[in-house]
Amino acid sequence: MLHFIDVILPIPLQKAFTYHITEAESQFLKPGMRVAVPFGKSKIYTALVYTIHQNPPTAYEPKTIHQILDDVPVITEMQLQHWNWISNYYMCSLGEVLRAAMPNAFLLESETVISKNEKANIKESELKDDEYLIYEALQHQSSLKINDVVSILDKKRVLPIINSLVKKGVLNLQEELYEKYTPKLVRYVKLHDNHKSQEKLQELLEELSRAPKQREVVLTLFTMEASIKQPIKVSDLSERSGASTSIIKTLIDKQILEEYHIQVDRVQFDGEGDADAKRLSEAQQQAYDDVETIFKEKSVALLHGVTSSGKTEIYVQLIQKQLEQEKQVLYLLPEIALTTQLVNRLQDYFGEKVAVFHSRYSGNERVEVWQNMLTNSEKAQVVIGARSSLLLPFTNLGLIIVDEEHESSYKQFDPAPRYHARDAAIVLANLFKAKTLLGSATPSLESYFNASQGKYGLVELNTRYNNVLMPDIELVDLADKYKRKRMKGHFSDRLIEEMTETLEEGFQIILFQNRRGFSPIIECTTCGTSPQCPNCDVSLTYHQYRDQLRCHYCGYNSAMLKSCQGCGNSTLDTKGFGTEQIEAEVKVLFPEKKVARMDLDTTRGKYGFEKIINSFEQREVDILVGTQMLTKGLDFRYVKLVGIMNADNLLNFPDFRAHERSYQLMAQVSGRAGRTDLRGKVLIQTYNPHHNILQQVSTNSYKEMFAEQMNERYNYKYPPIYRIIKITFKHKDYNRVNMAADWYAKSLKQLFKANVLGPEFPPVSRIRNLYHKNILVKIPPKQSLLKTKEAIQKIDNSFNAVKDFRPVRVVINVDNY
Ligand code: ADP
Ligand code: ZN
Repeated sequence: MLHFIDVILPIPLQKAFTYHITEAESQFLKPGMRVAVPFGKSKIYTALVYTIHQNPPTAYEPKTIHQILDDVPVITEMQLQHWNWISNYYMCSLGEVLRAAMPNAFLLESETVISKNEKANIKESELKDDEYLIYEALQHQSSLKINDVVSILDKKRVLPIINSLVKKGVLNLQEELYEKYTPKLVRYVKLHDNHKSQEKLQELLEELSRAPKQREVVLTLFTMEASIKQPIKVSDLSERSGASTSIIKTLIDKQILEEYHIQVDRVQFDGEGDADAKRLSEAQQQAYDDVETIFKEKSVALLHGVTSSGKTEIYVQLIQKQLEQEKQVLYLLPEIALTTQLVNRLQDYFGEKVAVFHSRYSGNERVEVWQNMLTNSEKAQVVIGARSSLLLPFTNLGLIIVDEEHESSYKQFDPAPRYHARDAAIVLANLFKAKTLLGSATPSLESYFNASQGKYGLVELNTRYNNVLMPDIELVDLADKYKRKRMKGHFSDRLIEEMTETLEEGFQIILFQNRRGFSPIIECTTCGTSPQCPNCDVSLTYHQYRDQLRCHYCGYNSAMLKSCQGCGNSTLDTKGFGTEQIEAEVKVLFPEKKVARMDLDTTRGKYGFEKIINSFEQREVDILVGTQMLTKGLDFRYVKLVGIMNADNLLNFPDFRAHERSYQLMAQVSGRAGRTDLRGKVLIQTYNPHHNILQQVSTNSYKEMFAEQMNERYNYKYPPIYRIIKITFKHKDYNRVNMAADWYAKSLKQLFKANVLGPEFPPVSRIRNLYHKNILVKIPPKQSLLKTKEAIQKIDNSFNAVKDFRPVRVVINVDNY
């Protein structure tokens, strides 16, 4: 009898692919194991066994597999079910889900590039013959592809050898160039042990009587040690005693003081640092109880708790309870909210049980989490991660928390699978009969709508922890300020006043501007020409720091122009402003204060965020300027003022979700102000102070915003009332994109009539030399989603049968965000 397996290849192949296996292999193999297989003329892939059967494929002659790579399955039955759902719902292949789910180190293929790990300490004698040959080849060449290894060893079965070398640390996979993090060290001082006793101290003070400044330092330190009972920072001592750090250094050199360093966790637990969960306030306890009650009947609860209401502490209690029942918990966060701030907070409670899964982690770290999960290790009971952690091998899941559930970055945009992590989380939880808790201060309309329909339970938490007042939000009318000449650069007199006062009181400031760079447009005042990206249909942004023009779509850059490309005059001017410009203006306005900037340009690398957040938290920085990165659930205790430099470009963004998003963004940034005891202040600069969204933000009226936006969505037939599928066509030839999109739209319109919008060019219609055109399919509440997708798939198949259209890339995005 003949034996076959269907495998999932990590490529966008619609169907499973069949290979021929031997009788013995069929006995051994199980779904979820990996095999190395040949594909096409010369490719090798790592594939995942999907089914084992006896039906030869009819359309092609099956090849045999190269070899089996695992002894036991590396993915679970449940994962396969979940991945299947994702692939069906989001109209992509299982291979694409596989690619998104598994760490690269699991999926070696012929194109994978390997290089020598320069840092490894390699004992050549410990390498096997084949391993040595690869190692030797890498002495002469900086990198090799797996296919090169095939020819070096003159055999096809190379993946296990490479796997073993990766495990031994001899090799790196190309994409793994990760930054090492040096944790933040803060300098502390104490009295040297030599002088600890009362007498010794007395002696010392006498000795120092001729060095009054040094004496003063010692006395101050002594008083501080007695009153504060906490480590004393060099910087604090210097401030309190009025002595320069060089005097302190002299004392350290004389062994009167002793210097030491403590690695600083980004969050300090009021000095206690104990691992007992905090006692919930009455309001928090009520919310916790409500969640519990809802979970008796419903599988999803939405926790709508204002900023700083202490949602995290409620999560902690819920996690605790799951652990007591020996269940796993998944704590999902938007990628960039996944900071050490939160991880430390949870590790303090749950210690080793916390595993972090992050796309910025190296392959090995990710493989480790995966392995721990497969074996349901103690080390992976609480998984904190960004959206892809949803695809991990859970075995005993009890609860998923989706924090900041409104965040649009939960939706994967490119490449496929274009899944929404919140929605896919609910499906995953249901597979395990587990619960899902969605949390946000500004829920998505989708979730709040589901809650208002009774599909989810709803818990409201309207007070901040410690009864801190919500910040006082003031709208500043820019038109009026400009008219009356009350502006300095992009700062109104009100903003400058508030900033001055806040800084005088010793508090910190956050300034929000939704654009990075210095200015988004350069324009010649003589002829009006403005430099455009050669690859994209968009103006180049001026970055002063590098004196460069950059494209934010494709990364193209060039040196800043000296004169206009159109008329040759040197009358170039900037239009609009970004974070760089705000930073520059702040430096002029407050020259003696420290400013930092947090945007895509300053936060690259694994710990890019941490470094900036750290220094802000340590109060080395007084004013932090940034983009929406600032909004993601950060908890700073000394921020009293938040300034939103310009609300209008948020509100005017051409998207049906622009108003909802503006509300969320502004409410979230505002929520960074006044998180401990005193009330924060927020200033929003705008040309439209009467805009409903701004009124709602300033009065903290989420429900009003919800009602009004829902009304719009009803009227214009948008989610959450209608569902939408966006279909994008991409090709370098303008005419071909037009023809393809027109053909597709015509077929769709025959079926769905007026519910098909477009084809239309988006505001930026050419990116990386490809023209883009969109069609939007709206799906009324009563229309079957499944049937709609089947119909689209059918149209897509006929589309792909047309030779002229085949080169056009078609991207289908279900529930486009
Ligand atoms: P949210 O996530 O709702 O914005 P957090 O959970 O970050 O709010 O809580 C805001 C602040 O209040 C944090 O600094 C947190 O440590 C503190 N906090 C919240 N609940 C408690 C509690 N029960 N006991 C002590 N401190 C708390
Ligand atoms: Zn470009």
